[in-house]
Amino acid sequence: MGNGILVLNAGSSSLKFSVFDIGGPGVLDAMAVGQVEGLGTAPHLKAKGADGSVIADQRWTTSEVATHGRALQEIATLLRSRFAGQELAGVGHRVVHGGPDYSAPLLITPQAMEKLATFVPLAPLHQPHNLAAIRAVQEARPELPQVACFDTAFHRSHDTVVQLYGLPYEYFERGIRRYGFHGLSYEYIAATLPEVAPEIAAGRVVVAHLGSGASMCAIHNGRSVSSSMGFTALDGLLMGTRPGNMDPGIVLYLLEHEGMSAKEIEELLYKRSGLLGLSGIGNDMRVLQESDSPRARLAIDHFVYRISRELGGLAAVLGGLDALVFTAGIGENSAYIRRRVCEQAKWLGIDLDAAANEQAGPRISSAGSKASAWVVPTNEELMIARHTRVLLGL
Ligand code: ADP
Repeated sequence: MGNGILVLNAGSSSLKFSVFDIGGPGVLDAMAVGQVEGLGTAPHLKAKGADGSVIADQRWTTSEVATHGRALQEIATLLRSRFAGQELAGVGHRVVHGGPDYSAPLLITPQAMEKLATFVPLAPLHQPHNLAAIRAVQEARPELPQVACFDTAFHRSHDTVVQLYGLPYEYFERGIRRYGFHGLSYEYIAATLPEVAPEIAAGRVVVAHLGSGASMCAIHNGRSVSSSMGFTALDGLLMGTRPGNMDPGIVLYLLEHEGMSAKEIEELLYKRSGLLGLSGIGNDMRVLQESDSPRARLAIDHFVYRISRELGGLAAVLGGLDALVFTAGIGENSAYIRRRVCEQAKWLGIDLDAAANEQAGPRISSAGSKASAWVVPTNEELMIARHTRVLLGL
């Protein structure tokens, strides 16, 4: 039996990986992290070791490394050469959709794969790639146990009232409901708060996961009670290239009056909207913050506005707010966006400590602040490794 856990997160054009060494009880040491990106365009493997040093930086032509399976072979070759003599005990996968029933990670079996394939229509841009990575491991190492960890699972604690859309009830029964995503990130934060911020861990907390995908989650006593994301990862906040919540009448209008096909609208909503679409410059918050273009300003102002609206809604669901937690790329790194959001949240009792905010906290509100604000880095890969370890009894 090996002592390594491989974590895989397969996207449409990338395969991200992390390797953890199983230490004593509760200890998982990150050994390496990296990704093959540019699948289909310009495949490129980049990886770092535990100390942050580069352990791989390699490029191929598209025909050399065309699939997730081939990318996995290259990752395996790297790991074998780097960690000779060490063996894997299991593989954990990020799987975006666990459907209405799975509220916990799942051991992969042929039956489980059949079930997970039925959720492809619910997450057409993500689920097929997640399942492709599982199949690639099955082919390469059929003896290795694999675990699927779902982005939806942490939100299965939501009341039915929270999951409903106002459509005829039979649509809810057919699975058209609010699922919520980024669950592995929120679960990690909820699990981390007792150490980092014990005074708020049992309280009413809104977590803002602000990355290239962005959402917010209301957590009470460590359990998710509501989230800004819904049936798909298009709902809620403005994101890098997605518009977030919008009137569904717009889709009908585009279909009926602008002659757009469903595929074209899908591309508009997933790839051309959000910060990118509004600014006309890009989806990287760093670039927009540094730009003096009025449209970049407008995009940032709208981003902050949408977060503020959602925060008010989630605080109402919680019946008040004890703390606001920022995480993910923008949440962890942009003191500017945190300041803007906290200024808008004064009415909720948040009083920012400007110096603490510049240093990314972890606590970024003043000592006298009625509700506190925090920066807590997320670690979805570690959450997956923990689940995999527990489920496989390692
Ligand atoms: P993903 O959803 O791809 O995992 P991340 O959580 O890594 O996204 O967030 C990526 C985003 O974080 C980038 O698009 C960038 O806009 C933003 N970001 C990273 N560093 C900074 C920074 N120093 N200031 C502002 N934004 C940042």
